[in-house]
Amino acid sequence: MNGLDLLGPDQRGLYIGGTWREAEGGERLDVIDPADGSVLTDVADGSVNDAVDALDAAVAAQAAWATTPPRERGEILRTAFGLITDRADEFAHLMSLEMGKTVAEARGEVGYGVEFFRWYAEEAVRIHGRWMQAPAGGSRLLTIKKPVGPCLFITPWNFPLAMGTRKIGPAIAAGCTMVVKPASQTPLTMLALAGVLAEAGLPDGVLNVVTTSRHSEFSEALQSDDRLRKVSFTGSTGVGKILVRQSADQLQRLSMELGGNAPFLVFEDADVDAAVDGAMIAKMRNMGEACTAANRFLVHRSVAQEFAEKLGKRMGGLSVGRGQDDGVDVGPLIDEKAVESVSQLVTDAIHDGATVVTGGQAPEGPGYFYPPTVLLDVPVDSEINVQEIFGPVAPISTFESEEEAIRQANATEYGLASYVYTRDLARTIRVAESLEFGMIGINSGLISNPAAPFGGVKASGFGREGGFEGIEEYLETTYVALPAG
Ligand code: NAP
Repeated sequence: MNGLDLLGPDQRGLYIGGTWREAEGGERLDVIDPADGSVLTDVADGSVNDAVDALDAAVAAQAAWATTPPRERGEILRTAFGLITDRADEFAHLMSLEMGKTVAEARGEVGYGVEFFRWYAEEAVRIHGRWMQAPAGGSRLLTIKKPVGPCLFITPWNFPLAMGTRKIGPAIAAGCTMVVKPASQTPLTMLALAGVLAEAGLPDGVLNVVTTSRHSEFSEALQSDDRLRKVSFTGSTGVGKILVRQSADQLQRLSMELGGNAPFLVFEDADVDAAVDGAMIAKMRNMGEACTAANRFLVHRSVAQEFAEKLGKRMGGLSVGRGQDDGVDVGPLIDEKAVESVSQLVTDAIHDGATVVTGGQAPEGPGYFYPPTVLLDVPVDSEINVQEIFGPVAPISTFESEEEAIRQANATEYGLASYVYTRDLARTIRVAESLEFGMIGINSGLISNPAAPFGGVKASGFGREGGFEGIEEYLETTYVALPAG
């Protein structure tokens, strides 16, 4: 099976106003296979004028879409859920090709990503305001929820499907139209998704997709336009800050899902085997290229050696290779820069005094591979504990007390995911209340769930995706003051 079959003959173009078309000037953008650096295919490389055309289409579709019955909006999402589920293998192969993750991992992302469509199909019909008597009596208070209006979605390469569906699902449910710019390294899955939504009956202009290499001009042009009412971004904190600044003139509403530096705490009372199982998921999901990836393993000194040996054995036993090949557990990283960055962090950590339990050396090319690596006795202030690693490396540092563990865990500018392993209920409550993170997994290495509010604090951004909270990001509240009658 080749996932590229999911894309029709025109479907490597721009999708604007319900039509597939070439970019202005016919420009194209190569899509690279990270397993060997070869060109997989190419897609349209949209211009600023193309971006404005996409916004024109979204604006033109907005009024009718806002008044489309919620049940109809929900049914479109439910139909798309079914279509993607039926083609889960094709989607998984396509994602594996352009992003590198194994097909099994990609299947997991399809299952996760498509749930946002089912969840928001169900939420579309539960948008409601409130009615109440004013506290002093007399007047009545009525609130009405309305769609925010045309949105801009910018998504990263690490989860090409799920980072899209978790914005598109609630936006469709709420009655918003949108322009989507997928990452230029992984545009194919989003193009396939646009095709499925059209097939599911989404009216022309509600979803527009512009693939482009000109990310700065693209966002500047759209954010300076007063017709754009909302920006939802998933990506790095640096780019998030640029988009926040650019939103100031038109005061666009924002959702920012940014970087992370998740601590993974293992207390002396933890079930160490369970912690190793959880660590394998929290670290190795998506080859560590996840904003929720465990970035720093903070382990009580009394169990650190045992945890490191067991984790090293498991990580060292994984096979690295092309994501579409049978028996492969770990695919390539996204590009050469990613391998260099991970290699540098590991080299620096060893220089700072860390010892290598397994891995630690990038193989010769072709392809952008890095082996699963475990490092022990990493100083807490080593750069690898400060930066987002975004690769399959588990640095282990130690602590002596609960207070020290919490202090180390919170000593980061980020605040997205965190993980805690302990069997003590009182400690669970104390630690959960003290951690400055948007999400906390207790004795679990997997926290992402479409029904839960996903998001962070501090430099990890603001706003929530998924859950009941996710749809609120796409709704405005109008208050109507009424006389008692
Ligand atoms: P990135 O460089 O910030 O890119 C993300 C997206 O932003 C891409 O589509 C990129 O386009 C686009 N972009 C870059 N500069 C832009 C600009 N000036 N205007 C408009 N768009 C711009 O991040 P990345 O390296 O691809 O992704 C990794 C980061 O995403 C990590 O920090 C990770 O933690 C974060 N992430 C966060 C979450 C979350 O939910 N919190 C989830 C997944 C990933 P091009 O592709 O054309 O460069």
